[in-house]
Amino acid sequence: MRILIVGGGTAGTILGNNLARRLSGEIRSGKARITMLSASDKHMYQPGLLYVAFGQMMPDELYRDQASLLESSIDFHVDPVEKFMLDKNRVKTRSGKTHEYDILVIATGSRIVPQEIPGLNEGSETFYSEAGAVKMFKRLREFQGGRVAIVVGVPHKCPIAPVEVTFALHDYFKARGIRDKVHMKYHYPIGRIHTIENVAIWAKPEFDRMGVEYETLFNVKEVDVENKVVRSEEGTETEYDLLISIPPHRGMEVVEEEGLGQGGWIPTDRHQLKMAGHDNVYVLGDTTNLPVSKTGSAAHFEAEVVADNIASMIKIGTPVREYDGKVYCFIETGHDSATYAMFNYANPPDLKSPNKSMHWFKMAYNKMYWTSVRGLL
Ligand SMILES: Cc1cc2nc3c(=O)[nH]c(=O)nc-3n(C[C@H](O)[C@H](O)[C@H](O)COP(=O)(O)OP(=O)(O)OC[C@H]3O[C@@H](n4cnc5c(N)ncnc54)[C@H](O)[C@@H]3O)c2cc1C
Repeated sequence: MRILIVGGGTAGTILGNNLARRLSGEIRSGKARITMLSASDKHMYQPGLLYVAFGQMMPDELYRDQASLLESSIDFHVDPVEKFMLDKNRVKTRSGKTHEYDILVIATGSRIVPQEIPGLNEGSETFYSEAGAVKMFKRLREFQGGRVAIVVGVPHKCPIAPVEVTFALHDYFKARGIRDKVHMKYHYPIGRIHTIENVAIWAKPEFDRMGVEYETLFNVKEVDVENKVVRSEEGTETEYDLLISIPPHRGMEVVEEEGLGQGGWIPTDRHQLKMAGHDNVYVLGDTTNLPVSKTGSAAHFEAEVVADNIASMIKIGTPVREYDGKVYCFIETGHDSATYAMFNYANPPDLKSPNKSMHWFKMAYNKMYWTSVRGLL
């Protein structure tokens, strides 16, 4: 059984390691083989970018060598896929190689596309890339006061990020003693301040407490860099001195170009995580079109389900589990406090009051991620 994993990020790595352990006997006897193709020899802990943007982590702390995270039985290559030939059970890579498979797992993640909104790239600071996070920190350090606007493109990964960065900005300006010189305004694309209703209900009084103004139904249309104005599709505008953006996302180019899914989001069965119409193709993480948050935690839980099911299919001929839409998000709320949101397809999150121990748990998780991605947590 040839299992081919495309993508060595959160989902692909957890899947590969779990599978390699569950199928160790089959791999030893030559009955199963796991190959992973990725676009980078490095693995980035993406949630750490928020800390880089506030000078609390250095960029090099976010990386590990991908090969060092993988079980030794996984045949790993840095050779991105350029062509999916799903009807022939094979893919073609940048180096010109062809890989055949019996089971394919697509876990290629997502990419930011700020260029889709005129002026957003030039006019805003973002922490959604390493270079962006470093630049944002330098800009924050220079900032002496004025109007700060936070805008959110859709869709985007990590739904909690807009709220977290708002708390973090408030804290940062307070710590610098300039909070009274800063007017903060948060903009959100739908009719409440967060897509998850209970997060919106919880965050609103917190924003009031911090003196953060908010405007809902604000879909960013353009940034007028010269005049420092951000305009919405809805016809409103906000003037700013410092614009912080969460850029819109798409799936990877190869997924779009190959026609696997509109916007790069692959139609995926909600419970078995198979690509629609393809019994031997699984889809994990950001690149699915599932109605769940694009988060590392969803990628993690999905990968565990698919690892169990591929292993059980090989061992007993039937899948054993279904994905229930589970997501777990830490929410950093400033003042060294945090809370969390846990939910699935059927149950919305029930938010608890933030506390210090949750914050320290998140700080510990920032290190524990490397154990988690090895499939050991
Ligand atoms: C600023 C920020 C904060 C975040 N905070 C959180 C958080 O607090 N909690 C949380 O759960 N999540 C958070 N996330 C989201 C989380 O990091 C992603 O949702 C998660 O990494 C998705 O996993 P994935 O495996 O789908 O994609 P990724 O981890 O992005 O991996 C994609 C992989 O595919 C590879 N690849 C790409 N193209 C190809 C190709 N053509 N061929 C082969 N390989 C390819 C890439 O090299 C990469 O290895 C955050 C993200 C950001 C940016």
